[in-house]
Amino acid sequence: EYVNINELFNYLLDRFDMIIKKEANDPTKKKYTIERHFTKRDLWVEIDTDKFTQVIDNIVNNAIKYSPDGGVITARLLETHNHVILSISDQGLGIPRKDLSHIFDRFFRVDKARSRKQGGTGLGLAISKEVINLLGGQVWVDSIEGRGSTFYISLPYVPYDEGDDWSDDQTATD
Ligand code: ATP
Ligand code: MG
Repeated sequence: EYVNINELFNYLLDRFDMIIKKEANDPTKKKYTIERHFTKRDLWVEIDTDKFTQVIDNIVNNAIKYSPDGGVITARLLETHNHVILSISDQGLGIPRKDLSHIFDRFFRVDKARSRKQGGTGLGLAISKEVINLLGGQVWVDSIEGRGSTFYISLPYVPYDEGDDWSDDQTATD
């Protein structure tokens, strides 16, 4: 199905903002904020909404889980000539350089001791990568240990120009 990724990504982040509001007065809950830098354009992309939701939820939940109290998470959405690119950045623990190439492997978790107390199976990113690859996209990470991480998702996208009118018969010119 074709989905407006701008609207969907906003909606998924709104749900996290609602959780932030609900937990605002609960001292046992970790505090964080989410900033958005989005293109204003509607971007229609062929995806499975449920599967895409699972991917964003995992990456945002990781950003929260592996960040200290009061961290800022930044979500971005932009388009290139044939892709949409989403990114989610955190100011958290980061990932050691030696582990970067394993982060999308099944059951891989950085530092077993640190991960154990966070809970989880180490499957989230492996599943995310499978889902995005099935949609014809890519997922990758940029991270500096002790500073933070940025996860990127790219999805194939055919820009729609307002000037194009595909309803009329057109003669190919190239
Ligand atoms: P699950 O998602 O299955 O509940 P998980 O979060 O441990 O468990 P993944 O989402 O696959 O598993 O992530 C794999 C590992 O990558 C994590 O255990 C963690 O060590 C590391 N990691 C993932 N995201 C981040 C992040 N934003 N910052 C630092 N480390 C991360
Ligand atoms: Mg996870």
